[in-house]
Amino acid sequence: MLIGSYSPALVLISLCVAILASYTALDMTGRIATAKGRAVHLWTGGGALAMGVGVWSMHFIGMLAFDLPIDLGYDMGITVLSLVIAIVSCGFALWLVSQERLPIWQLAFGALIMGAGISAMHYTGMAAMRMTPGIDYDPTLFGASLMIAIGASAAALWIAFHLRQNTPHVRLARAGAAVVMGIAIVGMHYTGMAAARFPDGSFCGAAIDGLSGKGLDNLVLVTTLAVLSIALLTSVLDARLEARTAELANSLTLANRELTQLALHDPLTELPNRVLLADRIDQAMHLVQEQGGCFALMFIDLDGFKPVNDAFGHHMGDQLLREVGLRLREDLRSQDTLARIGGDEFVLLVQLAEPDDALRLAARQVGLISRAFRVGEHDLQISASVGIAIYPGNGLTPQELLMNADAAMYHAKGTGKNGYRFFDASMNNDARRQLQLLQDLRNAVEQQQFSLYYQPKFSAGNGHPVGAEALLRWEHPTQGLMLPDSFIELAEKTGLIIPIGDWVLNEACRQMRVWHLQGYTDWRIAVNLSALQFCHAGLVQSVAKALATHGLPANSLTLEITETTAMSDADASMTVLQELSAMGVDLSIDDFGTGYSSLMYLKRLPANELKIDRGFVRDLEHDSDDAAIVSAIVALGQALGLRIVAEGVETGMQQDFLTQLGCDALQGYLLGHPLPAERFMVDILRAEQVAVV
Ligand code: C2E
Ligand code: CA
Ligand code: CA
Repeated sequence: MLIGSYSPALVLISLCVAILASYTALDMTGRIATAKGRAVHLWTGGGALAMGVGVWSMHFIGMLAFDLPIDLGYDMGITVLSLVIAIVSCGFALWLVSQERLPIWQLAFGALIMGAGISAMHYTGMAAMRMTPGIDYDPTLFGASLMIAIGASAAALWIAFHLRQNTPHVRLARAGAAVVMGIAIVGMHYTGMAAARFPDGSFCGAAIDGLSGKGLDNLVLVTTLAVLSIALLTSVLDARLEARTAELANSLTLANRELTQLALHDPLTELPNRVLLADRIDQAMHLVQEQGGCFALMFIDLDGFKPVNDAFGHHMGDQLLREVGLRLREDLRSQDTLARIGGDEFVLLVQLAEPDDALRLAARQVGLISRAFRVGEHDLQISASVGIAIYPGNGLTPQELLMNADAAMYHAKGTGKNGYRFFDASMNNDARRQLQLLQDLRNAVEQQQFSLYYQPKFSAGNGHPVGAEALLRWEHPTQGLMLPDSFIELAEKTGLIIPIGDWVLNEACRQMRVWHLQGYTDWRIAVNLSALQFCHAGLVQSVAKALATHGLPANSLTLEITETTAMSDADASMTVLQELSAMGVDLSIDDFGTGYSSLMYLKRLPANELKIDRGFVRDLEHDSDDAAIVSAIVALGQALGLRIVAEGVETGMQQDFLTQLGCDALQGYLLGHPLPAERFMVDILRAEQVAVV
């Protein structure tokens, strides 16, 4: 028998190649697992090629490491066939481990096929020597080599399958696994080699025309290393690229989440907004339908927020809203939803054990808000009006529930604010009535159902009339004469006040022109402006046009704006007021004393007149505080060089007191009610006759 010998250096190299090939294969499975579409096939094909070449070259170098005391060579065709077998079985293995799942029977079957493939490669490679007589294989070792091939394949498949996801220490784990797999493959090879016995006198048929050992080892090694490194490099680079892509995708997800947060939350308070609230109500309704129970929707509107905002500016207002949000949240459980759905409107959605819980919670919330808020340097006092709708019972859709809670909130406001009200069906009629009124109001402009009433103003000193205030009246087709308090707010909310206000200006100027022609040239006609008109860009132009149309001097028109309006956006109002003042129009600060005024600002306003709010005048006789306030206002007005007018004068005592304090003019039911122009003149003429007599 011929005794073979091994070149230790080549054996070691074959082991290294086996380990490297195993590592590459494991890395490739990772690529295949995360790739999509056509890339899967590319990676599987490339992986099969790289791993097949690797395993085969391990085998071939192992063959070259083996030496017999005769000349050896390898048949070209058979050697290539062994390479093809290696590539095909590796391709199969890669395909198998890239499957979604790898049940045990599939693993066993795969190991069998792959083991058979590697063995086939090995023994085909041996056959490439074309020995005569044939190689004599020791059955036990031959069997052992098959077992090792199958066992190693099973281990390799299992490891590859489990290491294909990119977990934290995957590279280290793969390296370890590659060593195990490499040793197993090498073990199979050398066991197979040990099984081979070459009888004495054996002759290698391929030694003459086949590939011979000289220099072949280097060629195979270099080619193999090149294939493996290219494969590995591609794989590593691709993994990087994928990691970058994943990072990008991650930041995209984050950006998306932020966008959702923005879309579903109010940026000021970070509370859910109307959209998210609607969704939560929907969910809560489903929950109740499935599991029973009930929930409450509380519409919370702040009282007295607007004046704070107007007086201290938006910055303070925002701060206050944030504080309110925080305080309201104090009392809630995590499953409750507090949303902000408008300027100073919050909505609370709470699951209830029983409907009565809503009452206690609402009372607590009202109490929380009525405690002063410390914002910046100021202690701000506001309160909350809460309307409560209960589900089931007060509505069938989220919108309906919200509308009903809103209606209940309006009732809470109507009954003195700083409190809460449960919804009941009668409130809905109000909402419907409001809607009807709005439609009527639209028609009213077109169908000219408006008229002006005039209330005289008298000089406090000598009792002569000094002009009149024009007060809007609506001759409603079914409800009769309506006062401004019942429709001005609606007209402001809907913007209808702009055309209505223009009509008032024009009509008042027309009437004033008539009186002018009758000789009352020293009278002034006063027209009330709402906040919205005041902010409207066309105001100055409208005023100029009304005056021009009726040929009136600007000075015979007084524009009354409330203190709150004048102070709300101080700088903007200042510009408009200065323009009006420059035209020569007379300006009056209405309802003085009810808002927050800054004295500094008041001093700079180009106003001509202060109207003391009738609230102070009413309580003059009973309330010494009010008397003090009125005399302070008078003193202040005088110091600023303003005319002082007192409105709401109903008794002789009030008249005397206000006259003594130094008011310039008086207006009120005692002296004259608001009347249509003709009856107004009848009264004026009668008063003049009395004066003459
Ligand atoms: P205001 O400017 O304070 O007008 C005075 C209101 O007090 C008028 O009510 C008048 O009828 C009432 N009044 C007059 N004397 C007395 C009195 O001795 N005692 C009492 N208790 N009340 C008296 P009216 O006409 O109902 O107007 C209410 C408010 O509607 C006005 O308050 C004004 O703010 C607004 N308004 C009236 N006409 C117009 C208008 O043409 N445009 C705008 N934007 N608002 C208007
Ligand atoms: Ca007025
Ligand atoms: Ca007033």
